[in-house]
Amino acid sequence: MFTGFELTEEQKLIRNAAREFAEKEFTPERVRGYEDQGVFPWELYRKVCQHGFLSLHLPEEFGGQGYGLFEYYLCLYEFAKVDPPLADTILMGAHFGVELIADFGTYEQKAKWLPPLTRGEIVMASMFTEPAGGSDLSRVLDTRAVKVGEKEWRINGTKTFITNGEIFRVANVLVQTDPNANPPYRGQSIFVVENGPAIDTRPIYGKMGHRSSPTSEVTFTDLVVTDEDILGGIQNLNKGFYLFMEWLPLSRIKIGCLGVAASETALQKAVQYAKEREAFGKKIGGFQGLAHRIAEVAVKVELGKSLLFRAIKVLEKARKDKAYLEESTKLASMMKYYGAALALEACDLAIDVFGGYGYIADYDVERWFRWAKKLEIVEGTKEIQKNVIARCLLGRDVVKRF
Ligand SMILES: Cc1cc2nc3c(=O)[nH]c(=O)nc-3n(C[C@H](O)[C@H](O)[C@H](O)COP(=O)(O)OP(=O)(O)OC[C@H]3O[C@@H](n4cnc5c(N)ncnc54)[C@H](O)[C@@H]3O)c2cc1C
Repeated sequence: MFTGFELTEEQKLIRNAAREFAEKEFTPERVRGYEDQGVFPWELYRKVCQHGFLSLHLPEEFGGQGYGLFEYYLCLYEFAKVDPPLADTILMGAHFGVELIADFGTYEQKAKWLPPLTRGEIVMASMFTEPAGGSDLSRVLDTRAVKVGEKEWRINGTKTFITNGEIFRVANVLVQTDPNANPPYRGQSIFVVENGPAIDTRPIYGKMGHRSSPTSEVTFTDLVVTDEDILGGIQNLNKGFYLFMEWLPLSRIKIGCLGVAASETALQKAVQYAKEREAFGKKIGGFQGLAHRIAEVAVKVELGKSLLFRAIKVLEKARKDKAYLEESTKLASMMKYYGAALALEACDLAIDVFGGYGYIADYDVERWFRWAKKLEIVEGTKEIQKNVIARCLLGRDVVKRF
C-alpha cells in the first residue's frame, strides 16, 4: 500500500508485520472453513489482538498501542490484501464502533470496555439500523429509552442487521430519548449497553456472502440502563446522532480501504492468470477485451490508493480541527462509494479472467465478489454516499436533508 508515499521506518515495520502475520495465518483452509461453517473466527481474532494489530489506534492507557489512525488503516489494508472478507470480520467487524467509546466515552466506559476488547476477550457491536430503515436514521427511532427514575432508563425496541448481534458483550445503541424533539435527531442518544437477559437475538441466515461475520436482529425488552451508560455521560443526552455522524467518516474509510485492498489483490490474481493461461494458441492477456479491462482496473486501483491516502490525512486533520469536518465527510463518502464499486468491478474481472474456475470456491474471487456487494450497502448505501457528496458540493440549501 502507498508505494510512492513516504512511510516512516516504524510504519514500514507495522506494515511488514501485518503482511507477514496475515500471509502466515490467513491460510486458504482457514478462511474457507470459517466462511463455509458460518462461524466467527474466535481463535484467529484473539491472536490478532494479542499481536496488537486491532488496537494500534487505541490509547495506551486502555490497552491500545497509541499509534495514529494511519497505522491502523495500513494494517487493515495489508490484512485485506490477503483475504478481504476475513480482514473485514476481524479488523473491522469485531470492534465495530470501538472508536465511539475511545473518542467520546467517559473514563469509566473506556476503562471498562477497551482493555478486554484490545485483549480479544470480547467482541462488540454498534446498533443503528432498525427494521423500518437504516438509511434514514434522522427520523424518530422506534427504539426508545424512557426515563423511569431519577437516573434510570428503560430501553425497548428492535435493531436489525446487527454485526456480532449473537456474540457481542458490549454495544453502542442509538435510541430515541426525546420523541418530541424537532428535528427528531436532536432527541437521540447512544447508550453503551452490556449484553444480558433483557436482550434477545435472532440470527439472520442466508446472507449472500461474508458468513464468517454473524448478523442478527436484536430486541430490547425493558433493558434497564442509567445516565452513566449514555456514551460520554449525561452531557451527551440527545447528542447521539451528532456523535454518530462525527464517527462515520472514520468507519466509511475502513470500508473504502477494504475495497481498494481487495481490488489490488483481485487484479494481481487476474494479471498473473492472464499471463499464464492460453486459448487459441496465445496467452489470454493478449486478447484486447481482457487486457483493456485489466488496464482500466489497474488505473482505478492506483486512484483508489491516492484517494485513500488523502481521505485518511484529511480525517486526521478533522479530528484535530473541526474546520476540516466537511471536507473529511465528503472524502470519506467518496472513498466508501469508490472502494465498494471498485471491489465489485475488480472481483468481477478476476472471475471473468479465471473463466469457469472463477465461479468455483477454490479460487476465492467468487467469495470475495459476494462479500464485496455488502460494501455497497453497509454504513450508508451507495445512493446515500452520493447524497452526502452532492450535499457537500452543492450546499445544504440546494440539497436538503435526504
Ligand atoms: C451484512 C450486513 C451487516 C450490517 N451490519 C450492521 C451493523 O452492525 N449495525 C447497523 O446498525 N447496521 C448494520 N447493517 C445495516 C446497514 O447499514 C443497512 O442495511 C443500510 O444502512 C441500508 O438500510 P436498509 O437496509 O434499511 O435500506 P433502506 O434504508 O430501506 O434503503 C433501501 C433502498 O433505498 C435507497 N434509499 C433510501 N433512502 C434514500 C435516499 N434518501 N436517496 C436515495 N436512495 C435512498 C437505498 O439506497 C437502498 O437502495 C448491516 C447490513 C448488512 C447487509
